[in-house]
Amino acid sequence: SKQRLVHPAFAQQVIERHGFSLKKQLGQNFLIDANILGKIIDAAAVSSEEGVLEIGPGIGTLTQELAEHAGQVVAIEKDDRLISVLFDTLQTYSNVHVEHGDVLDVDLKQIFATWFQGRKVSVVANLPYYITTPIVMRLLEERLPLHSIVVMVQKEVAERMAAKPGGKDYGALSIAVQYYTRPAIVCKVPPSAFMPPPNVESTVIQLQVLSKPSVHLKDEALFFQVVKASFAQRRKTLVNNLLHTPFLTLTKEQIQDILAAVHIDLRQRGETLSLQDFANLSNTIYNYKQ
Ligand code: SAM
Repeated sequence: SKQRLVHPAFAQQVIERHGFSLKKQLGQNFLIDANILGKIIDAAAVSSEEGVLEIGPGIGTLTQELAEHAGQVVAIEKDDRLISVLFDTLQTYSNVHVEHGDVLDVDLKQIFATWFQGRKVSVVANLPYYITTPIVMRLLEERLPLHSIVVMVQKEVAERMAAKPGGKDYGALSIAVQYYTRPAIVCKVPPSAFMPPPNVESTVIQLQVLSKPSVHLKDEALFFQVVKASFAQRRKTLVNNLLHTPFLTLTKEQIQDILAAVHIDLRQRGETLSLQDFANLSNTIYNYKQ
């Protein structure tokens, strides 16, 4: 019988056997809740043909379970002290490759080419919270051939990713995530599901990667600049935010004309605009810039 690390006693044993001490700065909170682990695995729905990229395997709790379901697992871990622990806890799995490195630095395209050739690939991870947004943005912007991303993140971050226009959670992160994916909240997770418990609540979120982006853009970089500018000062109107953006050299009259052309009210705030509104806005600004 396998020693499932999700059982706190086994996790504790492994940690003690290796003389491992947890590093808070690396977001090391290990999952010890079998029910939540099951929900992550169900949401990821990986088949034996598929590949899984895991970010931050820790002592291998989720990795073991992924290895049972997937064809190939690649787990990227930054903490060099965990590499020998993972060698121990994952030794019975021939379909797991542990890559020692920082997920923000490693060559993901190379890793995909080496390990996932021809496979459908998903990301499944309990992310280190201090770099959640850079990780998710890297995965999306690099246009890796991903099918879905199932990740544990801080509750507030999940709410921002899934937010609809109109509320305080809606912003640049919502728009970026919803440009590339369809988000769905899987479940909430209390601090007690981890060892040690983090200071925040968590949420598992699934991001179904779209086969093509949700809106058509003439200039993607301009779109994201316009989004960023629109949320620069949340209490200001769109006109004022767009006017005080260095990269746009439009007059107030031009901005008013553009907004009228895309049927956006002059007094509207950025947080009320849908993705389609932002697409129309940036595509019209694009024409003015030519
Ligand atoms: N997957 C394990 C689990 O569910 O119990 C551990 C998750 S823990 C929240 C986050 C993991 O990410 C830790 O193992 C930490 O060392 C690792 N990590 C932190 N920063 C990283 C980075 N930049 N690149 C790769 N892994 C990182």
